Amino acid sequence: MASRAILGTFKNYSFTSRIPRAYRSLSTLVLAEHDSGLLKSQSLSAVEAAKSLGEDNSVSMLLAGSGPSLQEAAAHAASCHPSISQVLVADSDKFMYPRAEPWAKLVQLVQQKGGYSHIIAASGSFGKNILPRAAAVLDVSPVTDVIEMSGSQIFVRPIYAGNALCTVRYTGSNPCMLTIRSTSFPVASKSADSKPNPAPIDQVDLSTFGEDAIAQSRYIGHTSQDTERPDLGNARVVVTGGRGLKNAENFKMIEKLAEKLGAAVGATRAAVDAGFVPNELQVGQTGKIVAPELYLAFGVSGAIQHLAGMRDSKVIVAVNKDADAPIFQVADYGLVGDLFEVIPELLEKFPEKK
Ligand SMILES: Cc1cc2nc3c(=O)[nH]c(=O)nc-3n(C[C@H](O)[C@H](O)[C@H](O)COP(=O)(O)OP(=O)(O)OC[C@H]3O[C@@H](n4cnc5c(N)ncnc54)[C@H](O)[C@@H]3O)c2cc1C
Repeated sequence: MASRAILGTFKNYSFTSRIPRAYRSLSTLVLAEHDSGLLKSQSLSAVEAAKSLGEDNSVSMLLAGSGPSLQEAAAHAASCHPSISQVLVADSDKFMYPRAEPWAKLVQLVQQKGGYSHIIAASGSFGKNILPRAAAVLDVSPVTDVIEMSGSQIFVRPIYAGNALCTVRYTGSNPCMLTIRSTSFPVASKSADSKPNPAPIDQVDLSTFGEDAIAQSRYIGHTSQDTERPDLGNARVVVTGGRGLKNAENFKMIEKLAEKLGAAVGATRAAVDAGFVPNELQVGQTGKIVAPELYLAFGVSGAIQHLAGMRDSKVIVAVNKDADAPIFQVADYGLVGDLFEVIPELLEKFPEKK
């Protein structure tokens, strides 16, 4: 009766369309990745992106996993960024490994309860694996690889391997699901680790979580290099080697140079396919997207698929024996020369890292 009376007062107005619930008020769920009890910095970039959606946005962060390291990561999430207003934790063996199927169902469960207007994940292998599947389960179209936002519905994303930018207006229903390039949403240093009052941490009620979600895939194993080098996605300096290095043994020169510079090591797909280094080091369209302050490329031709992953670097230096190599078109400094002469000379001239 009351609602009829309220609607009656509006009878002289004409409504042309329903305003999607999402845009009446903003609330964002960030799908977070963590490791060894710490939130990964890419997930903080997703929080930065959430901030760009609008000022009145309330940001919840969802973490899943099991055991003490999950709870440590939740505590870290609660206190590491002023824009995080709630941390949701799904603690179960089902999330021991970040498999897409149970995660997608988890996102569906949390969305049913929270009714978020937006769901965001960083565009790494974690987000690229989970978010599209979760979007399919929620029956919405995701907008991927967002590099810029203009309000809560208009997004810019690269197309044609980064050769053109496309502006997309999201007109679908709730939630609007996005993956963002973390290099486009850097975390302001004063944002990180600067929250006097930690956000509340709430456990997700998993009592209705179906077993069917976990049967479709099986965890086999995880390999990664044990290295003290900085993470490729966030390093300030990246030294990349291409097919010009010729073999894995020679590629060690790139690693030595990176060590001296305190840099991360990157590689082209050709170098990865030839087995010089593992594919977690691949930079490019089908590898990692990086935007360091300094990008050094040795024996890299500069194919568009490689440029797609590094062209936003602040300063690009290329060494190639072919003066017509396309890498020189994007390089700030180019040296036409033989890397087998240039790298040993650099190794000799750079002081040892203390
Ligand atoms: C769908 C798709 C996705 C792809 N995704 C990626 C991706 O994510 N990342 C990526 O990198 N590639 C990707 N590729 C592959 C890409 O097209 C190129 O084949 C690759 O980037 C070439 O790698 P490269 O520059 O190491 O090798 P090459 O193109 O063979 O270039 C080697 C360069 O080394 C130089 N060189 C040789 N010897 C020396 C020397 N002694 N001193 C100095 N210079 C020397 C040569 O002049 C040459 O320019 C993709 C391709 C496709 C089709």
